[in-house]
Amino acid sequence: MSESCTPGADAAADAGSLGALIPAPGMADLSVPRGSMPPKHLSDLSGNERRAVVEGLGIKGFRADQVSRQWFGRLSDDPTAWTDVPVAERDRIVHALVPSLMQPIRKLTSDNGTTVKTVWKLFDGVLVESVLMRYPNRVTMCISSQAGCGMNCPFCATGQGGLRRNLSTAEIVEQVMAGARALAAGEVTGGPGRVSNIVFMGMGEPMVNYNRVVASVARLTSPSPEGLGLSARGITVSTVGLVPRINDLANSGFPVTLAVSLHAPDNALRDELVPLNKKFRVEQVLDAAWAYADKTGRRISIEYALIREINDQAWRADLLGDLLRGQLVHVNLIPLNPTPGSKWTASDPRDEREFVRRLERKGVAVTVRDTRGREIDGACGQLAASSR
Ligand code: SF4
Repeated sequence: MSESCTPGADAAADAGSLGALIPAPGMADLSVPRGSMPPKHLSDLSGNERRAVVEGLGIKGFRADQVSRQWFGRLSDDPTAWTDVPVAERDRIVHALVPSLMQPIRKLTSDNGTTVKTVWKLFDGVLVESVLMRYPNRVTMCISSQAGCGMNCPFCATGQGGLRRNLSTAEIVEQVMAGARALAAGEVTGGPGRVSNIVFMGMGEPMVNYNRVVASVARLTSPSPEGLGLSARGITVSTVGLVPRINDLANSGFPVTLAVSLHAPDNALRDELVPLNKKFRVEQVLDAAWAYADKTGRRISIEYALIREINDQAWRADLLGDLLRGQLVHVNLIPLNPTPGSKWTASDPRDEREFVRRLERKGVAVTVRDTRGREIDGACGQLAASSR
């Protein structure tokens, strides 16, 4: 990806690269507002780029590797503990490579402390959120890729607020790093642990911020000192269906799981629930998903928020089953967490069970996602929205 220190240039570059995708009125807004981006951070940069920054200070390049090893290998964000770096050089390197990017302004826990939601205030005052969910055999972090979202899905709290800006690579990576540090320090119920899974399902449409999302995957999966050393197979990137970016991701070389937020099997309803559908139809999105599965060997995850009397009818389950049968696919049904004042609400449990039964009858693997964090504004974007 090309990075720039010019305020607004990154956002403008992304908007430009999506020029062919700018939609007609009434559709999701794919354009990215111009806005200043945060100062460059270690997590934005490759190892070579970090060494160049340090050498630009008149300091030996290997100091960048030492600092990177502290940051990613030892999970230490406390420069006073970086005793392998001379004090005189440390302050200058900290200033150049690890500027403060985000402050936690609210933390909420539920599920006996195993679910932790954090609202982050970024350098320009915008708010985003991340969620850490600890299970017996894994720790999953749900992270944001944009501040707000321009996709305008009517049932989603984030969508109602519009898009503020793309997050930088480091702003994405540092959500995970904060969780990794809290786990390593034993601050999360269950004792010391590690992040094992990442889902790009917080605020934003990751594919609109494609370059930085892929750069963050690179950072998170590169071994220390370059990055955090997670497995790409533990990472899931979601999309409402930006077909060209799905194709790009298939060719990116990162075997991440692709999650398609489908929410309706028919174009008539999906046009309403996911406005981007007016640009990329159900068939096009699924064709891109199957091509992704062919190329990567990874099973596609279909996300489907079950909404009472909107998309939970038995005939829609049958139609969905017909679209998916025989493919390398798994359906995640998500009981909708209603946003305050919304007409949309979760399905009747009987309808949910019938939906599952009909998909299974078509031979489609399906699970109902557990609804962690419901009592702490669990649906995407709700916590940040209520913190404003
Ligand atoms: S559901 Fe996802 S894509 Fe749609 S508005 Fe919300 S955050 Fe954006």
